[in-house]
Amino acid sequence: MKPDHGQLLYEGKAKRVFSSGSNERVLVEFKDDATAFNAQKRAKLEGKGQINCQISASIFEVLEREGVPTHYLGLESDNWMVAQYVDVIPLEVVLRNIATGSLCRETPIPFGTELSPALLDLYYKDDALSDPLLSEARLEKLGLLSKQKLLEVETLSRKVNQVLTSFFANLDLLLVDFKLEIGLNQHNQLVLADEVSPDTCRLWDQRISDPEERILDKDRFRKDLGGVVEGYGEILKRIQGVCPKPRNYK
Ligand code: UDP
Repeated sequence: MKPDHGQLLYEGKAKRVFSSGSNERVLVEFKDDATAFNAQKRAKLEGKGQINCQISASIFEVLEREGVPTHYLGLESDNWMVAQYVDVIPLEVVLRNIATGSLCRETPIPFGTELSPALLDLYYKDDALSDPLLSEARLEKLGLLSKQKLLEVETLSRKVNQVLTSFFANLDLLLVDFKLEIGLNQHNQLVLADEVSPDTCRLWDQRISDPEERILDKDRFRKDLGGVVEGYGEILKRIQGVCPKPRNYK
């Protein structure tokens, strides 16, 4: 159901962000649209928005309990979330526990290599530039954030990795890699923004050894494996087995 909302502030590939009655909060709608390869591949996947919204809400609640600040405030409906208004830093923070994806396409690191400590890659979030990988020197030139804030971003991201790796391991899911977006709230504090879902995380089913069947995340869409929504639904089902229903916003 569509809640009352104000003007559209931002439309991304998988979500729309609307103003709410207050300038401290926004309403986030999770869409059924799926895109890959910088939106060259597109589809509508019925039910995806709702599943990702529910997964993200539960994950934000898990992270919040572990002391990770997030923009999440509560659910408005099945596929609408209420979040704090934050200035999102145009960075994609990628944490990699197992080598796959672009890391294996762009370097000779073999697929499946365990990366410990996790590899942290920073990308500049800009579709027109295809989200380029940044060096520390380039990041400094861009002046997106101070050295101190960069250290805080790294600490926060590694904490998220530590919490989520063990959370998913309890569900027999291997957290292969994921992307985070981070924002600054009105008190200039870093908070986790965007979403944490199978659109942004690679998750493998540890109960299955077949290298394609075990994939439960957006790689099912990228690689045309079929059963995308079913994969996402399996992740949600396991989360619901251990987490309470996410809270409603007021
Ligand atoms: N990712 C994402 N959005 C992006 C790029 C990557 O959510 O714009 C996620 C992706 O789902 C994976 C991780 O970040 O979990 C690492 O992606 P990678 O760099 O391997 O890129 P890909 O192979 O997906 O192009």
